[in-house]
Amino acid sequence: MQPLDRLGRPVRDLRISVTDRCNFRCTYCMPKEVFGRDYEFLPRDQVLTFEEIERVARTFVAMGVEKLRITGGEPLVRRDLPILIKALAALRTPEDRTLDLTLTTNGAGLRALARPLADAGLGRVTVSLDSLDDAVFGAMNGVDFPVSRVLDGIDAAKAAGLSPIKVNMVVRRGVNESSVVAMAQWAREIGVTLRLIEYMDVGHSNGWRLDDVVPAADLLEAVTSVWPADPAEPAYRGEVAGRYRYRDGAGEFGIISSVTMPFCADCTRARLSADGQLYTCLFAVTGHDLRAVLRDGSSDADLLSFVADVWRGRDDRYSELRSAATSTLPKIEMFAMGG
Ligand code: SAM
Repeated sequence: MQPLDRLGRPVRDLRISVTDRCNFRCTYCMPKEVFGRDYEFLPRDQVLTFEEIERVARTFVAMGVEKLRITGGEPLVRRDLPILIKALAALRTPEDRTLDLTLTTNGAGLRALARPLADAGLGRVTVSLDSLDDAVFGAMNGVDFPVSRVLDGIDAAKAAGLSPIKVNMVVRRGVNESSVVAMAQWAREIGVTLRLIEYMDVGHSNGWRLDDVVPAADLLEAVTSVWPADPAEPAYRGEVAGRYRYRDGAGEFGIISSVTMPFCADCTRARLSADGQLYTCLFAVTGHDLRAVLRDGSSDADLLSFVADVWRGRDDRYSELRSAATSTLPKIEMFAMGG
């Protein structure tokens, strides 16, 4: 059963948040002034168990999902994560193919966990890193976390065979735009794929303003004026990053332009939050309570029909409708929904 939503889009990609907790306090995501010591994270009994997550993933795979991305919060702070990875790596599509199983992390826990995760069946990782300059990065991650430890985590991921490695850099005007070229140079040299991300109005705590966004066109110009590159075809429908291949053969980079060039028409993603809410858009204001369905004795068939009905009713295209007014809607925070 492969349902289409109201705009004709299939579901191909499930992002699974395994925790709302994070060891960073990035200013654009979880600013420490708002999420300080007394902030109350989800109590344990409200967080989905690994068995519940696997059941939801299996349901989505039956509906056509081919890619699972583990995220958070910071996914590596969830205890025993390799156990979940092992269960998800065992899933097969209806055509008996393995899934693209990946994870987005700030990299802090990779030195310890890259090998156990790879052994459990994780295919690859995306690591977030906003600058190679400690002063800039420390201010952005909110906890003065050093660049060297993220680089060490990336080394560990490489050594464990997690490949390809992508690096997400959120670019904020006047904060780290001057780090873009150095990041591109480093990524080319060590053979990772840099993805420059327009700063987005997710959640409602980061005080987002359109003026803070460095548009994709400027990001493209910054990189290609140093290393010429040509647009590459998307690898699959719904790929979020516009891809560019360097003419000198040194790989490629991507730009995620959700603000200035929305890609809603091809959005095939669903998101499962750590507490079992299903969201059909990153900018959603409300979710669908899957945890209730998971815990009320419903059969797998009931679960499948619930999820398929949610998908069939989906008509989200927030980024195409974005305006000054929508940016102040009471949207769910990215760390709570799963980035
Ligand atoms: N903690 C993990 C990490 O740091 O990658 C996973 C969760 S994090 C919410 C996922 C990604 O969302 C990160 O690459 C982060 O930089 C990005 N992100 C968070 N807030 C954002 C915003 N307002 N605009 C653009 N990207 C954002």
